[in-house]
Amino acid sequence: MLMYHKVGEPVATRADRFLNVPTPSFRRQMRLLARLGFRAVTFGDLADGLAGRAELPAKPVCITFDDGYSGVATQAAPALRELGWPATIFAPTAHVGRRNDWDAANGKPVLPLLGWDELRALQGDGWEVAGHTRTHPRLADLPDEQALEEMRAGREELEERLSATVRTFCYPYGSANVRTPELAKEAGFVAACTTHSGWADAAQDPFLLPRVKVASRDDAWGLCYRLFIRPKLG
Ligand SMILES: [Zn+2]
Repeated sequence: MLMYHKVGEPVATRADRFLNVPTPSFRRQMRLLARLGFRAVTFGDLADGLAGRAELPAKPVCITFDDGYSGVATQAAPALRELGWPATIFAPTAHVGRRNDWDAANGKPVLPLLGWDELRALQGDGWEVAGHTRTHPRLADLPDEQALEEMRAGREELEERLSATVRTFCYPYGSANVRTPELAKEAGFVAACTTHSGWADAAQDPFLLPRVKVASRDDAWGLCYRLFIRPKLG
């Protein structure tokens, strides 16, 4: 699983580079993966494959975008469309069509997020729109009932707005305490991913799947390093 946030968003200050991969880098990364024999699957497909409910391609890659920044549709989607590849977006429902206001307090850039129509268009291309709560809270810090409600309400609103079954989830900020994975299951999800680094496999808890983070300075070689070399360095 690859973790992306922003692709091709404007860069004026150093803070703007945070989790913001330039469009040409993203395109080269996708082409490299295709040349290496990888095939993209959605998180739902990956979860089914890992659980033995469905077949996976020999080298599956699950491309994920947290939060649903508008550059995902304008900058990342064209490169994926060339390959016929789907991706997965984690959308906090209270912010759809608005901005990532939760980042304002920590000095991160506040950018436009995709609206419902744009999410539906990506869904039409085979993309999966998956759970990321309603308001993007740190779930580990919330009382269980509130955390459950954030996850469940986010899932239900996505299902209603997108007329789709929503089965996968991503913890905002990667924030989860020992009970959060169980709450995600109770909220109706079959799998969830974190911000922990590593390759996801069938031996792991499906509610704590790691991802490989791709940073703004990573070009195709950087992605190779993160995928194949860094994990071996331990
Ligand atoms: Zn997020």
